[in-house]
Parts: sequence; structure tokens; C-alpha cells
Amino acid sequence: MRILFVTSEAFPLIKTGGLADVSGSLPAALQDINADVRILIPGYPAVLNKLANPRFLTTISNLPNVGAVNLIIGEMPETKVPVMAIESVGLYQRDGGPYVDATGKDWEDNPTRFGILSLVAAILSDEKSPLADWVPDITHCNDWQTGLTPAFMHFMSARRTQMKQAKSVLSIHNLAFQGCYGAEWVGRLGLPADSYQINGVEYYGQLSFLKAGIFYADGLSTVSPNYAKEIQTEAYGFGMQGLLTARGKEIHGILNGLDTQEWNPATDPYLAKHYDVNNLDGKQAVKQALQNKLGLKVQAETPLLGVVSRLTYQKGLDMLLSCAEALIKEHNCQLALLGSGDTNFEQGYRELAKRFPNQVSVTIGYNEELSHQIMAGCDIFIMPSRFEPCGLNQMYGLRYGTPPIVTNTGGLADSVQDCNEINLKNKTATGFVMPKADPKALVSAIARALSFYQDESKWKSIKENGMRQNLDWTKSAKAYLTMYQALLKK
Ligand code: ADP
Repeated sequence: MRILFVTSEAFPLIKTGGLADVSGSLPAALQDINADVRILIPGYPAVLNKLANPRFLTTISNLPNVGAVNLIIGEMPETKVPVMAIESVGLYQRDGGPYVDATGKDWEDNPTRFGILSLVAAILSDEKSPLADWVPDITHCNDWQTGLTPAFMHFMSARRTQMKQAKSVLSIHNLAFQGCYGAEWVGRLGLPADSYQINGVEYYGQLSFLKAGIFYADGLSTVSPNYAKEIQTEAYGFGMQGLLTARGKEIHGILNGLDTQEWNPATDPYLAKHYDVNNLDGKQAVKQALQNKLGLKVQAETPLLGVVSRLTYQKGLDMLLSCAEALIKEHNCQLALLGSGDTNFEQGYRELAKRFPNQVSVTIGYNEELSHQIMAGCDIFIMPSRFEPCGLNQMYGLRYGTPPIVTNTGGLADSVQDCNEINLKNKTATGFVMPKADPKALVSAIARALSFYQDESKWKSIKENGMRQNLDWTKSAKAYLTMYQALLKK
């Protein structure tokens, strides 16, 4: 089966969040079960620099607003999955992030940048593709940035009477980001004028890339079974619940896996010492090295709480900020936080670190190395998200013997088993699940976790239960393949 995996970020080429992790791992896992997968991604400078063995593949011309772009083919550095990067000086070759400039402002031409990504994917999915020897069976799109692909594919196929075209799949990694732009973009991107309607790409008076994808895709999936249900409700549907409910039976909830080579405490090159489930001794040394590095008081027995996250309302880190001072005073614990996001949150955490220099370390920014060290060196990982499609960090916490505290939502609820009596007895308890996202629930979950932390043997067994979980991609990749096969039979 040929699969074109279309994405706006993929680790290790370029990463801003969980989508990159999935785009780095899932295609490789599909390749391992004999699928013929290629990734399609914008040619940002980092992508073109890191691509292994890059060479010119073809030119695609007559694109709206940009004219022609080149396709460069190469491979993922480690997994060797083939990658096609869209080279366009005007669209992608600039400093700054994939979505925002250096000041954090969205690039004004994002509708063109991701409209062209979507359109190129559709052109490559068509029997008239310039790559006649590699036309996919499945075109797997991810999030709003690729949401117009199923729409373009739909209109291309409508123009022909007989044709072979790939089936489109859209995976929703986060419904909160919907790619909404003015109606003028319908014409500017070459979509038919009559697609701008409720049964089409229109969404509350705008063009929505994500809605277009949800409406036109042949198949839909999201990144956890629980989130697949939640997005069909008003509380989590971000206005799309009506459409999602109408297609409810077709939405597959498939929990993300982890790149278990990249995230392995037994081999992680960023760690001062290695450890595994059979010998956890090294974890203490990693904690000590982390306390040292971050200027925290080096104390083995002091519980160290960790956060690695975008600092946003979604992630519930305002709740942690509101109770952090009381927690630190009452429990004499430490906090190591790494993240960036809302200026207010960044400022609030910086001030907290100033008030408690020996107990709180705050690093604002993006830092791959430190994220691994926090995952491994902390005792408890905190992730009180208000909603969380899947979440990867709680799973990294499980894998690194750092039990997570999470909210009972989305993929967090699917991946963490609370330390209640039954789970403890069955040896399935792996973390602490807050019944809802509020500061009181967070304070009580942290207090509960810290009381378990004092009981050495119980704590060891909770860590071990988490570390024994099978979190790799094999099972999920098979679930995607089954979904693709069912679509092709339709
Ligand atoms: P989301 O995609 O919503 O941001 P996820 O938990 O699904 O959240 O994935 C976040 C990914 O980004 C994880 O791999 C996490 O380690 C990483 N990450 C988030 N913030 C940072 C940061 N400041 N530095 C390094 N890695 C980060």
C-alpha cells in the first residue's frame, strides 16, 4: 500500500509539538509493517538542511499565488523514510518558526503556505500526478495545515468521469486550531466558489481549513479513543461538534505511540546515567545532575516535580501557577519547568523562580536536551490539561519512571491509570488522575502523589508499572493500516 503522509512538521527535521513526534514515528512504524510511505512537508530551512541525501525530484507549476515549486526528495536521517520537501523561497525559506515569526505573530501568508502544501498533496494524489510512478493509495493529512487536501482532491475527482485517486484521511491532533481565514481565500487558493457553503469549506463566515478536511475527507481519525468521543460534544467540539457527530461512526480514535528509541532511559544520550525498569538506581543520579544543572538545592529526598509544555490555557498551567507557592511551602518540594507560550504565564513562572531560587527552576524556551533530563530526573510529572487530544509527555513520564499527574480528559485518561485501590491491587496503577481541571483537584492530586512518594515500596511499584507499559507504535500503526484497508474496500 502506498501512503502519502502530509504534515507541517516532523521530528527530527522540525518540531513545535506532538504532531512532529507523530509524523516522525508513525510513517516509520507503517514502513516496518511493509507499507510504502512517503512524507510530504514544507521545505523550511531546517528541513532542507537535515534531510539525508536530498535531490531534485520534479517541478510543480501553475500553482495559485506562487507559480512553481520544486519537490526535493531525501530521507529521514534515522528511519530512512522517504521525504518529499516542497522547495519555495517565497513560501518557506525564512527564519522563524513554521507558523509564527520571531515575535510569535502568525505569518500573514499562512493561508498560501499551507494552501499550497494542501494543493501539492492533492496533485500528487491524482492519477495525473507528475510522479506517475508513485501515486498513493492513501493520502493521510494531519491537522488544519493539510485540511484543504481532501477538498482539492474532491474537486479534482469531480472533474473527471473515470479516474483512480487516492482515498483521503484526516487525523485531528488538536481541534482547537482550525485555520480560519477570510472568504476571499477561497478564490485565491483556487477552490470553486460554490464550495463556500455550509456543506463545504465555509465555517461561521470564514474559510476553515480544518472544517474543509473534516467535511471532505474519506476517513477521519483522532489521536485517542476518548478524544474521538469528546470532540462530538459541545464542551470539546470547538463549534465542530455538529459535523463531527454527523460523521461520528467514521471517526477512529487511535492512541499515539512513542518513539521508544528516542525516548529510552536505558540509552538516552542526554542523561548523566542510564536506568531501566529492572534497575532504577541511575534515576537518582539523573535527578542529582538535574538539580545541579538547574541551580536547585541538591537533595535526594526532596520531591522534584516536572513540567515540559507549551505554556497555554489548554495545558492548565495557570492552575499550577496559582497554587505553586502554597505547595512549595507546605510540602517543601521542588519544581523544574521548561516551556514557552503565553507571556503572562512566562512572566508568572519567572517571578515564582525568583522568589524560590533553590526550589523552583524555570526555563523559558524550547530545549530538547533539557526536556529529556526533566522527564528522567523528576519524581513526578505534572500535566493538568483542560483538554488533551492524546498528549505525549505523560507517556514519556511513564516510560522514564516519572509518574504523571493528569486530568481525566482525552488521551490522558486513556493512557494513565489512577493509583486507586483497585488499580494498586492489580498492579496497573501508573499515575494520578484528577477528576476535573481545577486548582483544588490539582492541589489534592499533588498531595496524594506526594504521600505515595513517601512510601518507598509503593512508589517503586507505581514507577515500574508505568515503565512496563508497551507504548511503542506497533499496535497503533496496525490500527491505521486496518483503517486504510477498510477505506480502500469502500
Ligand atoms: P502538544 O503537541 O499539544 O504541545 P504533546 O504532549 O502532544 O503536546 O507533545 C508535546 C511535545 O513537545 C513533546 O514531545 C514535548 O516533550 C515537546 N515539548 C513541548 N514543549 C517543549 C519545550 N519547551 N522544549 C522541548 N520540548 C518541548
